[in-house]
Amino acid sequence: MSESNKEDLLIIACSATKKQTNVPLPTLELYDGPAYRILRKRLDGVGTRPEIWILSAKHGLIEACCPLLPYDVKMDRERIQELRPEIELFLERFAPPGKFRRILIWAGKQYLLALPSSFLTRAEVDIVQGPIGHKLSVLKGWCVDWAKARAEPSNPGLAQGIHSRIDRITFQPLKYFIPDWEDYLDPEYDFTNDRFSWNGGDRTRLYAHELFKRREIYDGILVSLGHIHMAKGLARNGLKPEAKIVPARQYLHLKKRQMVMGDCGAFSYRQSLVPPFTVEQVVKLYSSLGVDIGASIDHIPFGDVEENGQIRPLRNDEIAERIELTAKLASEFLAESRRIGTFIPMGVIQGRSSDEYASLAESYIKAGYQYIALGGLVPKKDDEIQAIAEGVVSRIEKVFPRSASTIRIHLFGVLRQKLLPQLKDIGIASFDSGSYLRKAWLRSDKNYLSITGEWYSAVRVPFSNDPRFRQNALEAGVSIKKLKELEITCLRLLREFDHKHRGLKDVLDALEAYDGLLLRTSDVQDLRDKYEKTLEDMPWRSCKCPVCRNLGIEVIIFRGFNRNKRRGFHNTWVFFNQLRELRR
Ligand SMILES: [Zn+2]
Repeated sequence: MSESNKEDLLIIACSATKKQTNVPLPTLELYDGPAYRILRKRLDGVGTRPEIWILSAKHGLIEACCPLLPYDVKMDRERIQELRPEIELFLERFAPPGKFRRILIWAGKQYLLALPSSFLTRAEVDIVQGPIGHKLSVLKGWCVDWAKARAEPSNPGLAQGIHSRIDRITFQPLKYFIPDWEDYLDPEYDFTNDRFSWNGGDRTRLYAHELFKRREIYDGILVSLGHIHMAKGLARNGLKPEAKIVPARQYLHLKKRQMVMGDCGAFSYRQSLVPPFTVEQVVKLYSSLGVDIGASIDHIPFGDVEENGQIRPLRNDEIAERIELTAKLASEFLAESRRIGTFIPMGVIQGRSSDEYASLAESYIKAGYQYIALGGLVPKKDDEIQAIAEGVVSRIEKVFPRSASTIRIHLFGVLRQKLLPQLKDIGIASFDSGSYLRKAWLRSDKNYLSITGEWYSAVRVPFSNDPRFRQNALEAGVSIKKLKELEITCLRLLREFDHKHRGLKDVLDALEAYDGLLLRTSDVQDLRDKYEKTLEDMPWRSCKCPVCRNLGIEVIIFRGFNRNKRRGFHNTWVFFNQLRELRR
């Protein structure tokens, strides 16, 4: 059967709202949630109806024309277990691969668990995600396009239009993920006295997305199994197979619409001869962590390796081996994810040239991947990254002209401001980076990003109990008592300056007298100029983010992680707003 003669299929979850009736009604009449009202309104009077199947908590997978009586059954874990075998049989018999041109799935997360992942990851399957208003508009669009295509069934251009339209709505380009590095805060930190509210025991963790409440500062979080390797953070408990793993969503206090991507953190084991995990372990861990998207295991093909206690550069043959190993692991990972995974598998590609990345992308997609990720881009220059991304995209468009728009590409660890418009144009689906967060406390003059896009230096007021600082002060003939006094003066004058009770010169003198003890003489004047610029412009005053509004001048003081990370979250928010403008 040719592609244009194939049917489209909609699989939709049943609705809790049902009409009260004593006689069985066809499902589209019986269910009365907003999605069903849209279907009735849009498809009435069209004559023939599209192929629609209902995913029902009581009846499993059934055709929409089945007449049913009202029922009250929830799709919970137990029900999913009971329904899975018959749903699998139903799909095997009535939806073999290639039978439908496109399958749109309109269902909540719980319902999706009732469908086998081998089905969800098929090339023709599209899952509608996002807030309810958006999901309903996708459904409306689907009905309209179906009716139009019905009127002109021989128009392949229109059929193509339906594809790209659904893709455009469901997959906005450049989704931004931030890597999780245990970046949480003390919600009750006392900035005046620099005291934690944590007194040992369980810490109350406050993540950036909680600080910003309903405003979003990223689309999702990238959690790394590298943390297991280094026995750190979220996945630390995964070290013991018998330990109960806390799902990432719960651990990170994530909102529903924020996504979780999992990766193996290849950078953390780049010096090992082989990756420290097996494919089976990773698929199980991702499933236990409840990630939405899981990256296959990769091995970085550059840098050094440790062998017999010695560090040496990788040989050329080892570089080629690592690229091959990454491709082999991706293939095994896809098979294992389809068998037992509960996430969208993402195939990671490592390569040496644009051509190599493109060829590997082609083979990954032929094997069945719909989401691929380009790794190893971090040390590359902007134009190299652009050439690789474009090379991969044009190969996909050439080899898979029909399904190219459904293939998603992720760029690992890459945030290049200048490249974003080009990456948007070629349809890069997602990227991750923590650079705007981390810039807040890197030694540079770019610590605070103003809402006008200008970078400012943060003002350093180190803790006087820092041993290295104390040593320097003693060598300069400054007593510990005096050092403490200088520290308190800096903080007091900065706060007075923010309330307009203090002139700029006094503040700069105090900072120089204190922080100058830690610096080379040549750096002192340079920093004084930068601080002057920051304090004169007062960029935090024009920012409406919750960090700047609550912290005032504290946000530009370079001092301890509760200030520094909050400043980093402010930067991330400013960046995310710029990104959202670009995505429009
Ligand atoms: Zn701010």
